[in-house]
Amino acid sequence: MTAYYWDAASLGHDTGDFVEGIPRLERLRPDRLGRLVPGLDHRPLRPHGAEGWVLRVHEKSHVERVRRACERGPGLVDNPDTPVGGPGSFAAALAAVDAALTAADAVAAGEAENAFCAVRPPGHHALPDYSMGFCLFGTISILARYLQERHGLRRLAIVDWDVHHGNGTQAVFWRDPDVFFASLHQYPLYPGTGAARERGEGPGEGTTLNIPLPAGTPVEAYLARFEGEVLPAVERHAPEAILLSAGFDAHRADPLGGLLLTEGAFARMTRELKEAAGRCCGGRIVSLLEGGYDLGALEASVAAHLLVLAG
Ligand SMILES: [Zn+2]
Repeated sequence: MTAYYWDAASLGHDTGDFVEGIPRLERLRPDRLGRLVPGLDHRPLRPHGAEGWVLRVHEKSHVERVRRACERGPGLVDNPDTPVGGPGSFAAALAAVDAALTAADAVAAGEAENAFCAVRPPGHHALPDYSMGFCLFGTISILARYLQERHGLRRLAIVDWDVHHGNGTQAVFWRDPDVFFASLHQYPLYPGTGAARERGEGPGEGTTLNIPLPAGTPVEAYLARFEGEVLPAVERHAPEAILLSAGFDAHRADPLGGLLLTEGAFARMTRELKEAAGRCCGGRIVSLLEGGYDLGALEASVAAHLLVLAG
């Protein structure tokens, strides 16, 4: 009952030999990943008018700037960390949204207990009016707005275990009391935000939880924060679904991060998150790929994540 979304449109985002590149998603092709995850339930995307949903989170001027940059061909959007390859990059970013919304439909309708979307570009750094950190659109934020508006799931929790702080997601829900956002990340590190004192503001005060961790934090210390702080806070929020920004760049082999997680640690956190979801929201989890740049570690970690999600 775990739906897997992977679409060839992700391969159209041609960033050359940039670290966030096509080979990441080649590693996660259903036929290849299925050798590690028996019974992998690969399902097709359904079109959702993704651009309309992107506008629930992003400024119109942002979408147009990204579109024009992609139409110009290989180049950069907004800053040197966010390359695009051409029109295929825009299509890939919209397909990532379609994957997330298709997964949302399946999980909300009970056609899957949970779902994982292997998509790129990643999304959690994108601000409403600014692309950054390899990210064009905040896919997980768009997913949250879709679940609220289309499926009436108002209270949501977003957990982000990518090694980098999910500054874009935090910005979108900074003042929102309905969407709890928790991020564990290496700190200091790109993008520089995510200090423990950042807790949301106004009506959203207390619904943002940041767990900054120094490079080299032992795995057991990381897991203690996840189990002792993140999971209890998620359950206290009483979400109707749990969304996961599943970056795998906190893996010890990752070239961009300095944390020490293993695929076994990702499996353990997945199991605990699944148990929490079983207690508070009928097991509903939609997980989206964010970072993860060591190809072998990425493949092994996604497989471990899926094996646990699928039970
Ligand atoms: Zn990352």
